[in-house]
Amino acid sequence: MYDTLIIGSGPAGMTAALYAARSNIKVGIIEQGAPGGQMNNTSDIENYPGYDRISGPELAMNMYTPLEKFEVENIYGIVQRVEDAGAVKRVVTDDNTYEAKTVILATGAKHRTLGVTGEEEYTSRGVSYCAVCDGAFFRNQDLLVVGGGDSAVEEAVYLTQFAKSVTIIHRRDALRAQKILQDRAFSNDKVHFIWDSVVKEIKGTDVKVSGVTIENVKTGEISEHDFGGIFIYVGVDPVSHMVADLGITDEAGWVLTDEHMRTSIPGIFAIGDVRQKDLRQIATAVGDGAIAGQGVYQYIENMS
Ligand code: FAD
Ligand code: NAP
Repeated sequence: MYDTLIIGSGPAGMTAALYAARSNIKVGIIEQGAPGGQMNNTSDIENYPGYDRISGPELAMNMYTPLEKFEVENIYGIVQRVEDAGAVKRVVTDDNTYEAKTVILATGAKHRTLGVTGEEEYTSRGVSYCAVCDGAFFRNQDLLVVGGGDSAVEEAVYLTQFAKSVTIIHRRDALRAQKILQDRAFSNDKVHFIWDSVVKEIKGTDVKVSGVTIENVKTGEISEHDFGGIFIYVGVDPVSHMVADLGITDEAGWVLTDEHMRTSIPGIFAIGDVRQKDLRQIATAVGDGAIAGQGVYQYIENMS
């Protein structure tokens, strides 16, 4: 029986583990991949306090290393379901069931797909959702980045170090990204824009992507464009399927909590990107994690 089981070791989960472990309670953290979460897919982080600039994987390791001096149990597993049996919670993975007094859901968010013809077919054959992972494979190519948020604009600029050119296609005529990221893209000679337009189809050969068909949403004009690679950044959805039956999410699947990170089920907390909240960032994920890591200790104290 764990005092707390944390699901997900992104920045939110790792911070919760640090705070909970320092309270000397029995902590397990279940993760399906490497620690770090979305940070592992991030090129440069420039808005995490204490660092002028740091790569995502490096910040992930910096968050993970201090946990090694505590008895946090790292468990590999893909969580399928969380069950609430009152004082005991069960976390069901693909190959085991764990019991805990409290559960902290820190499963984050996952990139969306466009859902157009050719996207699935050419994924990993020129279509990518991770510039850090795949960018270097596209040296001297003309690349397309889809989206107008922080991810699209930041990663488009990152890709210019490899690419011949990077074109951002956005469905409106104004970017959603932070101003500082916009300025960087606008002042980069390699970055071009196609406004008010959406990708209708991704085309390719037997082997790889060759281009896209796009539609201008204002004029209805259809055109064909050649690209060697397509990076899709059209937002994220919550990873909350494991609590779908518990009635703690909104209609879109974001988990509802109070300011103490408590869901409506006593003993089940949620933190980080999976929560319904305004600002999904590493700094806010870490803040949520600290609150929940401390909160589970107080909850357990009050149980006894
Ligand atoms: P995540 O980082 O999503 O971690 C969730 C973890 O849960 C993952 O490790 C996942 O494997 C695990 N998990 C999920 N489901 C299961 C399951 N069923 N079983 C077991 N484990 C599971 N923020 C900034 O502040 N600055 C930036 O510069 C920045 N750049 C970004 C660039 C990109 C391209 C992206 C996509 C995001 C960026 N962000 C940035 C946002 C930031 O990465 C997130 O806000 C932050 O990682 C959220 O942390 P989290 O711990 O809540 O979730
Ligand atoms: P986002 O902010 O939700 O932006 C998604 C973008 O994709 C929007 O511009 C949206 O257009 C567009 N879009 C959505 N669906 C589309 C579709 N079907 N077809 C075409 N375009 C579509 O998502 P994100 O940029 O991935 O960011 C996710 C979170 O991570 C945010 O909280 C963000 O702040 C954070 N993040 C932070 C940083 C940083 O701080 N440096 C970097 C990356 C990410 P509209 O604008 O018209 O809605």
